[in-house]
Amino acid sequence: MDGDPRTLLADVGRQFYDRGWMWATAGNLSARADPESFWVTGSGVSKGTLTAEQFVRLKIADGAILERADPAIRPSAEASIHRAIYRVRGQAVGACLHGHSVAAVLAARSGDHLVLPRVEMVKALGVWDDNTETTLPIFRNHAQVARIGDLTEEFLRATPGALPALIVRDHGVTAWGRTIPEALQHFEAVEFLLTLLSRGF
Ligand SMILES: [Zn+2]
Repeated sequence: MDGDPRTLLADVGRQFYDRGWMWATAGNLSARADPESFWVTGSGVSKGTLTAEQFVRLKIADGAILERADPAIRPSAEASIHRAIYRVRGQAVGACLHGHSVAAVLAARSGDHLVLPRVEMVKALGVWDDNTETTLPIFRNHAQVARIGDLTEEFLRATPGALPALIVRDHGVTAWGRTIPEALQHFEAVEFLLTLLSRGF
């Protein structure tokens, strides 16, 4: 990836905040720094006014902190979900975006998966086959966030063809892609689909 991914992620944070996908200090954004590590937003900071100093670089293998400009910045516990995705999908993932939107909470109230509506927007998630049911997994919102990371890892290993996104109930969406723009495309498409569903489509 060209340049410092923190700059691009800070732009994404402003967009997410303005679009109501990162209320208060919710959500976290990450991008791969190299094959072994990724930059992720720090815990408890507003994603509408991110600076490069508010990121932490973590080792994918064990979550160890490798670099941060400000020692007061801590990684979010939700970084365990990002780690699981980088670990399982490897170099196919260059960025991972997680938000807390109203539509995501409203659209995924029960069950362990959500069937996506057959509208044009599913193509933005790489779905071109009209006949296959397209689903996103819904995980329970465990108080121990590391548990969600474990479930994510288990699911992705068992489901190589899964779409590049997942939902945590009463919480929000995580989407990923090869690059930050691709992860953003996936995230936006899922938010569009969840908005439709939350309005009774
Ligand atoms: Zn979250």
